[in-house]
Amino acid sequence: MSDLDHLFERIAAGEIPSHRVYEDEHVFAFLDINPLSRGHTLVIPKKRYLKLHEVPQDVAAALGRAVARIAGAVLGATGATAYNVLQNNGAPAGQAVPHVHFHIIPKYADGTGLPHHWPARPLDKTEAPGLAQAIAQRVV
Ligand code: AMP
Repeated sequence: MSDLDHLFERIAAGEIPSHRVYEDEHVFAFLDINPLSRGHTLVIPKKRYLKLHEVPQDVAAALGRAVARIAGAVLGATGATAYNVLQNNGAPAGQAVPHVHFHIIPKYADGTGLPHHWPARPLDKTEAPGLAQAIAQRVV
């Protein structure tokens, strides 16, 4: 187990200092220590879950509400009008801290914010119907 494993639990508990911007029963939010842009904020469940699909529905609902509200606050405080919400799950997807977190990253006219490179390819139309059905059947 690394120091990173319980870092965000300790921040939410106030054991490690942070620049707090929001707190409720389930949720804590604070400024990212290495921001991609001014106002880059992290929103976490106070309790540790590794990946988003593991979060209980009541906590997920609280997180969703908080992300939307805090995003508005970040725009109001920074003057930014655009932003990305990023949420990495698993080390191969770029998750460094194994505790669910949403990044709210303002995008500014000078280009600071989340770099936008999205190497999209056309949907495989042969596979798509079966794939959609397979996913649909597994929504719990
Ligand atoms: P991710 O790569 O999605 O796991 O993002 C982890 C984020 O946590 C990074 O943007 C880090 O800058 C941020 N971070 C790591 N340690 C701290 C800390 N002590 N306080 C605030 N943000 C942190």
